[in-house]
Amino acid sequence: MAALWNQEWREQAWESLRQTWDVLIIGGGITGAGILREATRLGLRALLVEADDFASGTSSRSSKLVHGGFRYLRNAQVKLTLQAVRERERLLKEGRGLVTPLGFLLACYRSDRLPVAVFGAGLIVYDLLALKWGHRYYDAYDLRELCPHLEAEGLCGGYRYFDAQTDDARLVLRLLRESAGDGGVALNYARVEQLLRDRRGQVRGVLLRDAAQPGDGDTAEALATVVINATGAWADELRSQVGEAPRLRKLRGSHLIFPLNRLPLTRAVSFQHPLDGRPVFAFPWEGVSLLGTTDVDHRDSLETDPAISAGEVEYLLTAVQRLFPGLALSLEDVQATFAGLRAVVGTGKADPSKESREHVIWEESGLLTVTGGKLTTFRLMAHDALRRIRRRLPGRSAFDTRQRVLAAPPAEELLHADIPSSDRLRLLGRYGADAPDLLRISVPDDLEHIGSTPYLWGELRWAARAEAVQHLDDLLLRRLRLGLTLPRGGMDFVERIREIVQAELGWNQERWKTEVDGYARLWRERYYLP
Ligand code: FAD
Repeated sequence: MAALWNQEWREQAWESLRQTWDVLIIGGGITGAGILREATRLGLRALLVEADDFASGTSSRSSKLVHGGFRYLRNAQVKLTLQAVRERERLLKEGRGLVTPLGFLLACYRSDRLPVAVFGAGLIVYDLLALKWGHRYYDAYDLRELCPHLEAEGLCGGYRYFDAQTDDARLVLRLLRESAGDGGVALNYARVEQLLRDRRGQVRGVLLRDAAQPGDGDTAEALATVVINATGAWADELRSQVGEAPRLRKLRGSHLIFPLNRLPLTRAVSFQHPLDGRPVFAFPWEGVSLLGTTDVDHRDSLETDPAISAGEVEYLLTAVQRLFPGLALSLEDVQATFAGLRAVVGTGKADPSKESREHVIWEESGLLTVTGGKLTTFRLMAHDALRRIRRRLPGRSAFDTRQRVLAAPPAEELLHADIPSSDRLRLLGRYGADAPDLLRISVPDDLEHIGSTPYLWGELRWAARAEAVQHLDDLLLRRLRLGLTLPRGGMDFVERIREIVQAELGWNQERWKTEVDGYARLWRERYYLP
């Protein structure tokens, strides 16, 4: 089991950096976390460093689907779809409580660019790839029985099929905690400022800065047999340090979040956007409804968090108003928003959605860059990366690709608390081996849900105590998703949050005020309407 990731742990981890690691991974999103997980399983001495918070990049801003990507079939990306549906099936089995099945309704209208029959054929292929027959045709009447708010005018029928969804940031955390349990080290707020190269120009390490300290934090050098660049949309920045020209096109995808009572959904609804025919989804997630996504070139600086633009808000709102006219949704109903950046290899296609989503691996001056791909396929990306560097690693250990990627959770009997079975399952899925300890440190009031969310107050206490929280947004946006699932970013609960967090993190009044102000500003500027 991993140690508590508290201040003492952080100091020790920082001290341990100055050595030669087998593998040093830059970037604490799903790609880096997946590689750390598989590298530690191989017995390699592996370090992961993240400039900001774990999963603070794209890996907390995805559509949260663990899916084959039915729409990628349209672009004839069959291999990617095949791999992804197989990974979905694996994650559903291993990640119960974290990865959950999600039914989809695909609604087709007479005005759509693609006829309903095309989807029927696509879904046959989709189910065949998964070796799981799940789709079914419904006529317009039956479709509206399943989803009464659907626009009736022009509806010609559609399909039901199955995929899965997750909490993306928690999936990253679970992989990191399980890697740490196997001897890996993962450190957030540790920014790589510079790549270190040997006399032959090969990358052999990094210069790190402690970004948790105010101002110019301490620096440390860490050396490694192999340095892996898993920085997603930021990957070109490190590549430029070894003289490589940029190759990535950064595409922004944004979502709107509505309270479930304003956009009541029991399953996902997928449809073609009335303006450009792009597939758009509305789906229930963690007690709210999400609507996404857009796919536009991101030309802003990568220094600041991406945010939804006014044009994207309008585009998404148009879609949901046309699909569910009876709900009369307006800007006032939007509870929160979020935007993420996708790194794709730029080939100059006019339509960004036509660029390939497959991952790429480049080896340049000893630096291995792994980027692109999907949340769903992180395990395969990790295997591909480790295969590429195997000849450079000690032992050259072969890996068994059949092994579980998520550890078997502890027995439910170890959860000593009187909570419903749905909460037990969720805790086991989200916290894995940590779930019994989370309940052990909970006081009776901690077993209540936070407002309308599925989260327990005890999760907040646990995350503050054990999950490397440095700032309030780590806690409210990623360890728990309160900033997305509660109105006003969760600020209505700020007093009770303070009672738990101040004590757990030892923040004085001044620090607390700075954190609350910082969080409120971030939420307003990056997680709400422009
Ligand atoms: P990131 O998560 O961005 O991680 C890179 C990390 O590197 C960041 O945390 C960053 O802070 C860090 N970093 C950068 N520079 C440095 C440095 N100098 N030192 C240290 N660290 C550094 N996939 C699915 O399977 N299902 C979906 O539903 C889905 N939906 C998506 C929706 C959108 C809108 C987008 C954009 C993508 C979606 N994807 C989905 C794809 C998936 O989310 C991404 O492929 C994945 O999250 C990328 O993970 P990553 O680890 O490569 O990058």
